[in-house]
Amino acid sequence: MYSWLRKSGRKLILDIISLSSEPKPGIHILNGHFLSLDDHLSNNTFYNQLKSLLFHGVDYLNIEKAVEYIENKRIPSDKCYVAFTFDDGFEECFTKIRPVLNNFGIKAGFFINPNFIDGNEEYQRNFKNNIVYTNKQPMNRDQIMILVEEGHVIGAHTMDHIKLDIDNRDILEYQIGESKKYIEDKFKTNCDYFAFPYGRIEHINDMGVEIARKYFKYVFSQSNYKCYYSFEGKVINRRHFECDWPYRHVLYFLKEKTLTC
Ligand SMILES: [Zn+2]
Repeated sequence: MYSWLRKSGRKLILDIISLSSEPKPGIHILNGHFLSLDDHLSNNTFYNQLKSLLFHGVDYLNIEKAVEYIENKRIPSDKCYVAFTFDDGFEECFTKIRPVLNNFGIKAGFFINPNFIDGNEEYQRNFKNNIVYTNKQPMNRDQIMILVEEGHVIGAHTMDHIKLDIDNRDILEYQIGESKKYIEDKFKTNCDYFAFPYGRIEHINDMGVEIARKYFKYVFSQSNYKCYYSFEGKVINRRHFECDWPYRHVLYFLKEKTLTC
């Protein structure tokens, strides 16, 4: 009940403050998880969100282009670009989100946990109930392979979706390094992208960042979205969204961003 009230309150506040939102120029990397917690919602929800954002002056970039522009500090001063990423590798990324992305010709990044993809029933049940708190199924390997073939990016999100704020090098090496190896072995593709689970700065320590950067060209958070980078340029920041949010709420978060903070 309390959480429902808090959610409705947040939605109401966002409804009001987002009324006059205009997208700000820059490159915004959004990070979602699924179409909706409501399993019966139509795919049109995401389609309509993307259409409305386009109508309000947002343009879309493939994730690789977005990262390349940010890396080369080619930040547009007159255009608002959005790129998409999705974490945790839920099946509806394939069944519900992919068709909409393909409709708009957008290539996105999908960050997966190998042990969730390949785990037995008991592992997957625990993962859903105690780690990601949703009953959604993972994608299977065939679905991920199709995403690769279509030009989407498959990134790693650790083997088991753990917090990387621990001081155990062996565990960090396994969770980070093996997730890259799994993706490269199974899907015959380079894996240069890594998003650390939970995404806030306190969910990874310096050793975690160091190991992640040793294996991956690009490491992503889900914090500090008004700055392009955290950890002195070693981590690219993303902004949380979900596909079923009203488009105005998304517009509200497309704020001015800076390379120096
Ligand atoms: Zn996650």
